[in-house]
Amino acid sequence: MEIESLAVGIFRTNCYLLHDTQRVWIIDPGDQGEMIRQIISERGWTVQSILLTHGHFDHILAVPYLHRHYPEAEIMIHREDSSALGETAYDTMVSFIRHVDVQLLQHVNDITEFPSPTVLLEDGQLIGGCNLRVLFTPGHSRGSIGFYNEEEGILFSGDTLFYHTIGRTDLPFADYDVLIDSIHKKLLPLNKEVNVYPGHGKVTTIGDELKSNPFLS
Ligand SMILES: [Zn+2]
Ligand SMILES: [Zn+2]
Repeated sequence: MEIESLAVGIFRTNCYLLHDTQRVWIIDPGDQGEMIRQIISERGWTVQSILLTHGHFDHILAVPYLHRHYPEAEIMIHREDSSALGETAYDTMVSFIRHVDVQLLQHVNDITEFPSPTVLLEDGQLIGGCNLRVLFTPGHSRGSIGFYNEEEGILFSGDTLFYHTIGRTDLPFADYDVLIDSIHKKLLPLNKEVNVYPGHGKVTTIGDELKSNPFLS
């Protein structure tokens, strides 16, 4: 499997296209659905699923657009963040944004309808086809998860672990101690060689974060 990365939207969220020669799994389509669709159609891939590391708006804004164009694709999120989709989506998003920065509302006003998730993920679940295992890592949000492929040595860490830093916990439903605990219990025990693809910024490895992340020493 290979990974194509796109930095999308106002927060330059990493949207990852995990693919083989025919199929693609879209991880965190945070914005710019048209560009994502364009790339997928140029490559000739079939969309299998939309996988969400958590429900913050900067990771899901292109879900409605992609769902319209790929209605067969599964939409997967952890149960604890599932209010970010479906009928509760708009209210969840607006109340979150009011806490963060009310100016951001202008970016989301035209998106009021989100599809419901088709799969509610649980810790340890294995997602078929892409062989990504769900690692439940709450703290940045209540339903934050990582997606880990052991054979390939890759982890999509969402906003839990970044290059030399960790996710924000000054947000509604975030908790610093829970986040640190998640990282220590679920992520740091992985092989040092594992490549970590975060929700923002550059790729790192578990070994580099063990050595150089100031929040984890
Ligand atoms: Zn987030
Ligand atoms: Zn984010």
